[in-house]
Amino acid sequence: MTASPAASCLFCRIVKGEIPAGRIRESGDSLAIADIAPQAPHHYLLIPKRHATDIGEFMKGPRAAAEMADLLNLGLELALTEHLQERGYRLVVNTGQEGGQTVPHLHIHLLAGREMGWPPG
Ligand code: AMP
Ligand code: ZN
Repeated sequence: MTASPAASCLFCRIVKGEIPAGRIRESGDSLAIADIAPQAPHHYLLIPKRHATDIGEFMKGPRAAAEMADLLNLGLELALTEHLQERGYRLVVNTGQEGGQTVPHLHIHLLAGREMGWPPG
């Protein structure tokens, strides 16, 4: 029997609680954790509980629109509770090799607490 990708996926294992992480906030479809190597004073990862390699694969799911709304809402709630909306913040979805994605399970970075450069590196 072939193992499902989710069995060895880092973020699936964090969602299931098999690997410890700084769990910040959770909803039915989504989990927010602290990034282990923060690139800003606030750096969270918004992770859908359903496994999908990237945003393109994720959006093929039958409930994708609702799940994506849930994921974004989790980030907005976090921005509100952490008082990030006043100074601003950045949401980032790295996708594929040239997009800089290193963990093949869709996630949105929420970065705040410093001036962000543009264009990104
Ligand atoms: P990306 O490079 O866009 O795929 O983002 C992956 C992010 O996951 C990076 O910012 C890593 O620092 C972060 N990361 C990797 N392993 C962990 C972990 N065990 N707990 C929390 N964040 C992690
Ligand atoms: Zn996964």
